[in-house]
Amino acid sequence: MTDSSNEFSYLAENWAAVRGRVDAACRDAGRDPAEVSILPVSKTFGPEAVRAAMALGLHRFGENKVQEVRSKAEALAGEPLEWVVIGHLQTNKAKDVARLVSEVQSLDRLELAEVLQRRLEIEDRAIDVLIEVKTSPEESKHGLAPGQLPALLDTLRGYNRLRVRGLMTLAVQSDDPAAVRACFRQLRQLRDAEQARGHDLPRLSMGMSGDFPLAIAEGATEIRVGTAIFGVRHVSNIRHRIE
Ligand SMILES: *Cc1c(COP(=O)(O)O)cnc(C)c1O
Repeated sequence: MTDSSNEFSYLAENWAAVRGRVDAACRDAGRDPAEVSILPVSKTFGPEAVRAAMALGLHRFGENKVQEVRSKAEALAGEPLEWVVIGHLQTNKAKDVARLVSEVQSLDRLELAEVLQRRLEIEDRAIDVLIEVKTSPEESKHGLAPGQLPALLDTLRGYNRLRVRGLMTLAVQSDDPAAVRACFRQLRQLRDAEQARGHDLPRLSMGMSGDFPLAIAEGATEIRVGTAIFGVRHVSNIRHRIE
């Protein structure tokens, strides 16, 4: 076993730096820093990195692959951890999600909601969900088309195992801050419109390492941060990878 206290000693500094930048972005936006939480994204980093982050008081982690949740949950069995799925979900992963995951932020279609509801009934659990909306034109991005949001939200009222708490998005990858910000603004406006129709959607998950100040300026209540906390994901951290 590696000595995680040494290997991941950089985490404390990174975490403090991100929290400081979030607080500064809140001040710039005239917002209370207590309104914005940070979801650490541990994808591609192994259980020892998660354990080191736990030593900082973190217990809720974002992952984009259910296989990674499963292997880390096994390696860290008994720890008070909450796993949040933020990546595209195939319906054949619903069983593990229902068993292991406390929240899904990437619910993007009715078919997935149906399968999750059924699996959660079997496990006798309920989870929080955010609807992922596609606000950027890139083919590579997932998410529900904005025009389909009202109908999906209305239908999900009948799914008692899925507690819809808000919306999630990934902004366009662009050097133009105005283009990035437009994605975040669209998500907030969609949320506001649906709240006016009677849906309770307090949460807006938007912003990552490279763009979170813009998301905070547009009303993010939580940001999902991987690289700025855990470091760059590349082949040199391959031994922290779960295949
Ligand atoms: C990986 C990932 C993040 C974190 O990205 P960083 O740029 O490393 O902060 C956030 N959201 C989703 C959906 C991701 O897949």
